[in-house]
Amino acid sequence: MLKLLLSIVTEKCSLVNKKKRILILGGTTEALKLASKLCAEGHHVVTSLAGRTKNPTIPVGGEVRIGGFGGAKGLAEYIQKNEISLVVDATHPFAKQISKNAKEATKMTGVELEVHKRKSWEKTKNDKWVEVQDIQEAVDRIPNNAEVMLAIGSQHAHIFGQTSKKFGLVVRQINPPVYKIMGAKYILSKPLKVDEEIELMARYGITHLVCRNSGGKKSYAKIEAARELGITVVIIGRSQEDEQET
Ligand code: NAP
Repeated sequence: MLKLLLSIVTEKCSLVNKKKRILILGGTTEALKLASKLCAEGHHVVTSLAGRTKNPTIPVGGEVRIGGFGGAKGLAEYIQKNEISLVVDATHPFAKQISKNAKEATKMTGVELEVHKRKSWEKTKNDKWVEVQDIQEAVDRIPNNAEVMLAIGSQHAHIFGQTSKKFGLVVRQINPPVYKIMGAKYILSKPLKVDEEIELMARYGITHLVCRNSGGKKSYAKIEAARELGITVVIIGRSQEDEQET
């Protein structure tokens, strides 16, 4: 009997010892799911959001903190102060600075880092893709007189306003624009379903979709819609270094 009691206590203690204080660097659907899963496993979870999105979706489990840490040093301080034992980088594949900071901060503190970044989408035989390395190359590859739908996030859209090329521009983003490109139309929209994406692209007579190869299911519908309509997708890829880290 004593032996049985001892083994139960030992098992409970080892479970308690396995519980971690986890910081998830989030801002993605994958981070939301991960927070719920790790909470259900009994870990203490804090999800961190940059604070860019108005009314962000809040994870069901754990705590949430919002706002920058103040660079890698600030993040290292946060990790130490909050006795974090694992950092999970589940940020968007194109959020580079925070991932760099996470690497540096975990190195400084000696805390474990797990990187969970989505895989890039792969081109299918029916896709018409022009694969480019950055936004400037995307601008350069758009022909005059095209009707462009821009779905690259509000931070980078302005580069399309700095060209002398003549094309129609529909800028699509989640948050209202802080700065508007002259002559561009704006659509405030989260990712839609395929049939809705098709309707939207057809309504605006889109000939070229410009987006990043973010991967994931949620925003893939626009790629499927473009395929369906025979629209050219000018797609900004990740660097080889970023791809290897996913
Ligand atoms: P970023 O360029 O890599 O980071 C810029 C700065 O924002 C970081 O140095 C950091 O400030 C702060 N930051 C970023 N992510 C943070 C987080 N999860 N928690 C606390 N601070 C964070 O990032 P970004 O491209 O602006 O993306 C910001 C957030 O939006 C990320 O959480 C990302 O997952 C999400 N998101 C990004 C995209 C995208 O296209 N880039 C798309 C969808 C969602 P400090 O140096 O002060 O700590």
